[in-house]
Amino acid sequence: MQVEQNKVVSFHYTLTLDSGEVADTSRGREPLNFLVGSGQIIPGLETELLGLGAGDKKIVKVQPEDAYGVQDSRLVQTIDRSQIPDSVDLQMGEMLRGQSEDGSIVEGKVVALDDQTVQIDFNHPLADQVLTFDVEIVDVRDASPEELAHGHVH
Ligand code: ZN
Repeated sequence: MQVEQNKVVSFHYTLTLDSGEVADTSRGREPLNFLVGSGQIIPGLETELLGLGAGDKKIVKVQPEDAYGVQDSRLVQTIDRSQIPDSVDLQMGEMLRGQSEDGSIVEGKVVALDDQTVQIDFNHPLADQVLTFDVEIVDVRDASPEELAHGHVH
């Protein structure tokens, strides 16, 4: 059985960044499961897995545009320190959680800091990165009707 639309795929992966740093791996844990076409994994990776079968291995390079995007300078914001609660001990590199105007939770990294202001980078930590996935397909099966209806793996 091949990886195609409406299949449930289990695979192992190791994600390496340009620097050679391993950012994430499923090795040593359960393989990752996803429903093809549900938008659960980044599109640039999913496309490259189509047509593979159980036991197949592949090295997939994904450009930032097909992964977590390119750095957007508008997402680096300078805010007044008074807007941050006193209980937060601000440090360079610290991840802060906040709420965007539409109410969703956003996470940003403190990239600059002085007595009055804090600069926070809300870009995805993997923005601008070319991602290299070392992939091994473990299993491919048909999705159940319930899984198709829900758009995720059970
Ligand atoms: Zn469900």
